[in-house]
Amino acid sequence: MTSPDSIKFPTQKLLIGGKWQDAATDEQIELINPATGKVFSHIPNASDADVDAAVKAARATFESKEWKRMRPLDRGKMLERVAQLIEADAENLATLECIDNGKPKHLAMMVDIPAAADVFRYMSGWCTKLTGKTLPVSGDGSHYHAYTIRQPIGVIASIVPWNYPLAMAAWKVASALAAGCTVVLKPSEVTPLTALRLGELMIEAGVPAGAINIITGYGQTAGESLITNAGIDKIAFTGSTAVGKHLMRSAANDMKRVSLELGGKSPTIIMPDADLEQAIPNAAMSIFFNSGQICFAGSRLLVHKDIYDVVIEGVSQVANALPIGDGFNPETMIGPVVSAAQQKRILDYIEIGKSEGADVVAGGGAHGDQGYYVKPTILSNTSRDHRVFQEEIFGPVLAATSFSDIDEAIDLANCTRFGLGANVWSSNVSTCHTLAEAIESGTIWTNCNFVIDPALPFGGFKESGIGREVGEEGVTMYTESKSVCIKLD
Ligand code: NAD
Repeated sequence: MTSPDSIKFPTQKLLIGGKWQDAATDEQIELINPATGKVFSHIPNASDADVDAAVKAARATFESKEWKRMRPLDRGKMLERVAQLIEADAENLATLECIDNGKPKHLAMMVDIPAAADVFRYMSGWCTKLTGKTLPVSGDGSHYHAYTIRQPIGVIASIVPWNYPLAMAAWKVASALAAGCTVVLKPSEVTPLTALRLGELMIEAGVPAGAINIITGYGQTAGESLITNAGIDKIAFTGSTAVGKHLMRSAANDMKRVSLELGGKSPTIIMPDADLEQAIPNAAMSIFFNSGQICFAGSRLLVHKDIYDVVIEGVSQVANALPIGDGFNPETMIGPVVSAAQQKRILDYIEIGKSEGADVVAGGGAHGDQGYYVKPTILSNTSRDHRVFQEEIFGPVLAATSFSDIDEAIDLANCTRFGLGANVWSSNVSTCHTLAEAIESGTIWTNCNFVIDPALPFGGFKESGIGREVGEEGVTMYTESKSVCIKLD
């Protein structure tokens, strides 16, 4: 297994205006390996002055002729080069993700790193395809030529969480740069290393100084300083619903644009005609992959009453068979959760579920005596009134219940304040379409799971967020539309 001594760390400084700089204060944030609970490194906590310098650098580049006039084709080539450098550095990036976040390295190689490269490659194509429309204006009957143009919003504060640190940073940065914006990126203070490495790779790829700036620091200090800085035009945030609401209130002061990718409590719905050989393992992995720390995790399992027992039995078998352990072990499927605080939160929720009357049919507690492991856990016979059915736990805990017919399934699916994803399993095409139309969420996966693709817009209904990332919507959300009307008569 890899030891911290053999890991190649990125520059642990702030990236401002193309240069790696020390923070204005000496304050350092400890990085803790979730597999051991031991401190293995530090990063700076950026001050207000550092944040302001990063925003000013992003502004100067945004206003510069070189950036504004950069040929769209060249901007595209630049993003493609970043994709290639991410691919070439995959092993190193996956190692950093493993020690910082706890996730199994081999799974980071399979999911996180390709996701990051893919979005840079996909967005490289959009640089040359952001177009407006010509418009048939009637007006007073004069002859008009009217059209819209799309222009970059400006300087973007990109704030990302700890569960997919590189992939989430890549989604934000690639989309914003494709639209012609410049960025100040703030990774989570818990998992900053791959964002810093991404900064190094972007400089190597020829991204102009100031187009990407990276500040590390606590949310309440560096993050707060960033979102309140008057030089920011848009806040693009992925994280918890509570912080998302706070950012939205703060953004209202000077009408900064916001896009928010927030929490979820996504249902997996298994209809009586589903192919259970597919549905059961997928329902299990939909909540246990990444130790359940996925915003769109299928954290609620809704099963038709006729097949409830057989499905619960099958999902429990998968849960009990998943190898738990250090993420550097290639056999591991369940790594530690990200922090002691997250482990405590999840274990507390398991106790809440028990006290609410749920039956623990798999897992039910911590694993081992060092590091922050939680066993894949299934709470059966939960109900819509239970907190474990309504609240985001963000851990490997599944809340299951049964339904009698499709109307009850829809009702249960929609009864939370969230609306991020849903997984539907049925072999009846009418049932699939009926559920896809009726469920209030940004993405419906039908007879499939985990299809996160740069071409597929992703985001939430209700308190799961505002806006859509990736796809065409994910790049146009970094633009303003301008209407131009010219009288020709
Ligand atoms: P979090 O909201 O605590 O933190 C997210 C980021 O915001 C971090 O970088 C943090 O430092 C920063 N932050 C915190 N307070 C801030 C403030 N006052 N001002 C500015 N920045 C601030 O979330 P987390 O615990 O890092 O991540 C888990 C959450 O993220 C879960 O709720 C999960 O559902 C959500 N998430 C959503 C998506 C999605 O696409 N919808 C994807 C991944 C994670």
